[in-house]
Amino acid sequence: MKFSQMFIPTTKETPNDATLPSHQFLIRGGFVCQTGAGIYDYMPLGKIVLDKIRKVVKEEMDKSGANEVQFGFVTPLSLWEESGRATTMGTELLRFKDRKNADFVLSPTNEEAVVNMVKNRITSYKDLPVNLYQINTKFRDEARPRFGLMRGREFLMKDAYSFHSSAEDLKREFDLMEQTYKNVYTRLGLDFRVVDADSGAIGGSGSKEFMVLADSGEDTIVVCPDCEYGANIEAATRAKRVVPNWQETTNTPISQEKVLTEGMKTIEEVSNFLSTSQAQSIKAVMKKAVYEENTEIVVFFVRGNDELEETKACNAVNALELVDANEDEIKEAGLVAGYCGPFGLPENINFVVDEEIKDEVGLVCGANEEDYHFTGTDLSTLKDVKYFDLIAVQEGDTCSCCGGKLQYTKGIEAGHIFQLGSKYSEAMDATFLDENGKAKPFEMGCYGIGVSRLVAAVIEQNHDEKGAIWTKETAPFLVDIIVSNAKKDDELEAGLKIYEDLKALNIETIIDDRKKERFGFKMSDFELIGFPYAIVVGKKLKDGFVEIIDRMTLEKEEVEINRVSQIIF
Ligand code: ATP
Ligand code: MG
Ligand code: MG
Ligand code: MG
Repeated sequence: MKFSQMFIPTTKETPNDATLPSHQFLIRGGFVCQTGAGIYDYMPLGKIVLDKIRKVVKEEMDKSGANEVQFGFVTPLSLWEESGRATTMGTELLRFKDRKNADFVLSPTNEEAVVNMVKNRITSYKDLPVNLYQINTKFRDEARPRFGLMRGREFLMKDAYSFHSSAEDLKREFDLMEQTYKNVYTRLGLDFRVVDADSGAIGGSGSKEFMVLADSGEDTIVVCPDCEYGANIEAATRAKRVVPNWQETTNTPISQEKVLTEGMKTIEEVSNFLSTSQAQSIKAVMKKAVYEENTEIVVFFVRGNDELEETKACNAVNALELVDANEDEIKEAGLVAGYCGPFGLPENINFVVDEEIKDEVGLVCGANEEDYHFTGTDLSTLKDVKYFDLIAVQEGDTCSCCGGKLQYTKGIEAGHIFQLGSKYSEAMDATFLDENGKAKPFEMGCYGIGVSRLVAAVIEQNHDEKGAIWTKETAPFLVDIIVSNAKKDDELEAGLKIYEDLKALNIETIIDDRKKERFGFKMSDFELIGFPYAIVVGKKLKDGFVEIIDRMTLEKEEVEINRVSQIIF
């Protein structure tokens, strides 16, 4: 392609809300433009990158034997009522009505649609297994769309759904998908970790996340430097269900020993735990408790051993923005977060509840201000309360796999695979006949890749202060031929000759043949956009030389013009 013919509106302006490099460079490099909160349009370069990633995903999925299909972006709400997710999905699910007043949703994921597709069409174990996937637009009305393509409301996802006659066969496909995903991220040139995303005691069957390692990642993961062990912080933190003995504990402090056996460690550990990013886990565990255990009220114990420590713990719990973080979900679930201090069940229970929902649940928020305390509640009188102790994993703890010392690191969730079991097939009455002619619900797996999030993730992992640095597999073009002064016929002609030569070798090349732009401007576009290589056709041309620049190192090398294609290869 020729720069002069392409629409690549680069700019020096950084949008105010663009804090992440990927967000800044995608906008400044003319890849995408924003049309609304969490909604982006892809300009030519953005579209090329998106399609390249999509192609890698498609090739690896096809290689695994999965079949590509396409579900409607719009699905009738009735399907979601069948599965029960019309109520549990919350406000991330965007609903709307058509002119006849019928209800629809914009697909945030497609379990219902795929069950609907397979139901009554696959009727025998002989037709199993099958894995159906699509690469299609999703919409999630995220509470906080931000970071550009990283957390959009409209985004592109590859979602796959597999159907099996047994849990063993599901496990086989799950492992195949793990390998397929590893192939995808490796081909894209990314440094990633596969982490355990099981929620431990709170339930959910096998689930793994694929984390692209980057400091800006929203997820904290626990990894072992000596082996492959990795877990997201939610999975690493075990939430232990506890059933307090009210007779024993209401007025008497629990002994230190009992606290230890119930999982919490020393107060230092508790407050360290709360002041680190492990705090995320509390939110996640709470959320899971609400959804997976269908609990109305969840109480977490955070224990301190004196008033000061208790206050610290209070502050930490508040600082978690427990309620704020999941405001909508909590409103729907009626979740109450609470804790108690020093070694006892309480007298002194503080409930942390959002202002807006206090009327609904009849409690007040803000644990540390006088009038905001809700104290003296006898928890044993509350109905449907579930209690959890959180057991933290600290940096430096011993890895159970190999004895290495665990570390925290940051990651971007770029994919997630899940053994669903029969949750959806049962709810939607989708069955097959087994070897004995008996009707059984399908065993299902589901597998997602954040295709558009990956566009941003590549940059998060590969950039410098000047701009993006695409990996070879994701670059919009591998080579940018910069014609220093395109008004000079000899330079332009030499540039075009190299361009044709490289194209003939199937090297994806763009030529910056713009007559109105100066060399410096073209160079900064090259650095900002992040093509892996530039070939500068300029002053040295008269001696038969051009310059090759490696975007990663910005090192320059003078090369004889007729040796260019050999070097690029
Ligand atoms: P997150 O924890 O980041 O909200 P999720 O766990 O809700 O993601 P999944 O339901 O597992 O997401 O969806 C599969 C994949 O889709 C994710 O691993 C992620 O890569 C991508 N994805 C999810 N939400 C978004 C979003 N708002 N914008 C872009 N990509 C997304
Ligand atoms: Mg999400
Ligand atoms: Mg997630
Ligand atoms: Mg996920």
